[in-house]
Amino acid sequence: MHTPAAPSSVHALPSYLQADHLGPWGIFLQQVDRVTPYLGDLARWVETLKRPKRMLIVDVPIHLDNGTVAHFEGYRVQHNTSRGPGKGGVRFHQDVTLSEVMALAAWMSIKNAAVNVPYGGAKGGIRVDPRQLSASELERVTRRYTSEIGLIIGPTKDIPAPDVNTNEQVMAWMMDTYSMNVGETATGVVTGKPVDLGGSLGRREATGRGVFTVGVEAARRLGLEINGATVAVQGFGNVGGVSARLFAEAGARIVAVQDHGGTVYRAAGLDVAALTAHVARHGSVAGFEHAETLAQDRFWDVPCDILIPAALEQQITAVNAGRLQARLVIEGANGPTTPEADDILNDRGVLVVPDVIANAGGVTVSYFEWVQDFSSFFWSEDEINDRLIRIMRGAFDAVWQIAAEHHVSLRTATFIVACRRILRARDLRGLYP
Ligand code: GLU
Repeated sequence: MHTPAAPSSVHALPSYLQADHLGPWGIFLQQVDRVTPYLGDLARWVETLKRPKRMLIVDVPIHLDNGTVAHFEGYRVQHNTSRGPGKGGVRFHQDVTLSEVMALAAWMSIKNAAVNVPYGGAKGGIRVDPRQLSASELERVTRRYTSEIGLIIGPTKDIPAPDVNTNEQVMAWMMDTYSMNVGETATGVVTGKPVDLGGSLGRREATGRGVFTVGVEAARRLGLEINGATVAVQGFGNVGGVSARLFAEAGARIVAVQDHGGTVYRAAGLDVAALTAHVARHGSVAGFEHAETLAQDRFWDVPCDILIPAALEQQITAVNAGRLQARLVIEGANGPTTPEADDILNDRGVLVVPDVIANAGGVTVSYFEWVQDFSSFFWSEDEINDRLIRIMRGAFDAVWQIAAEHHVSLRTATFIVACRRILRARDLRGLYP
């Protein structure tokens, strides 16, 4: 039995009216301003990027196990569909706001264009702490939310996927709910499904594998050997956990891991398999016995060559960017670095591989999943990983060249590549009517 976290959700001022309204969306707008001078003629379309195409706010009422009714606030934002249907995850988090989902949707537009998968950008979220819900409450929240956003999602309209605190089971419920409503089994409506339900081999690990792949490419260009390098990881979920394992397998030492519950440190390198087992049992890295515990804020001072923020937005800020020890930051999370922190890291010669390329492995294999669902023909895991690595390397290489050509950061370079693709499509389609 759980106490509902609901009353605040029921009575509070809607998050989109609160003073922090601009939050991550304000950051996205700054990123667009930075790229505009490099867009040439296409800059005349740049205003499109500053206005999400479509935003839906839904009320999600459910019966709690104790018989009372709780209401949660849900969102689905389709930022841009010039290049194809909306695509992007759904997150369940108590702090989700409309501004955050707007920014996350916009970053999906950039990301999908950067790796050249034929999608626009979208994102969804529910303002709920899933840890406060029982499994059946979570299922009801998921199903009611899916039904409410059913107006605008669909296999050729907008395709959700997992994100923070959502997983294969949540995708299975979403797929089932949508299918029940339309009267046919529509596997292509979400990606990141269980393999038994039209999911793709390799999807679960894809984001972490992509982080690792571009990390290796970036390290090579810095002359940094992965074998023997030290790595600190923030977030130990699907992205941070898999990245840590792949770096450790390549000979790196994972010296620090931080998650929502605590921070663990071991100079000689943490045992990633043991830590993964600990997290599966206890829900967090906190209390892992083969390591020292660090105070939360000390994480940013840890000596390491590579830092992988793989949790939430706005973690590396003007306050801590000057303290980071790493030479290379690979953004597994979406939006972990603020624009001020970007400048500080740039001035300090720290290379940042931005989210919009670094974590694009997830949506790349989501694209493979969607294609497999449509063709009802499924590929081997080797085939999927080979294609993923090829796409990630090719996209990173293109971004690296643009960065060198224009003397800009990898973030601005990725935005240049992506915005050109999006706005070229916009230009070719023209305005209706
Ligand atoms: N949520 C993931 C992301 O932020 C994956 C999105 C998808 O596969 O559609 O990229």
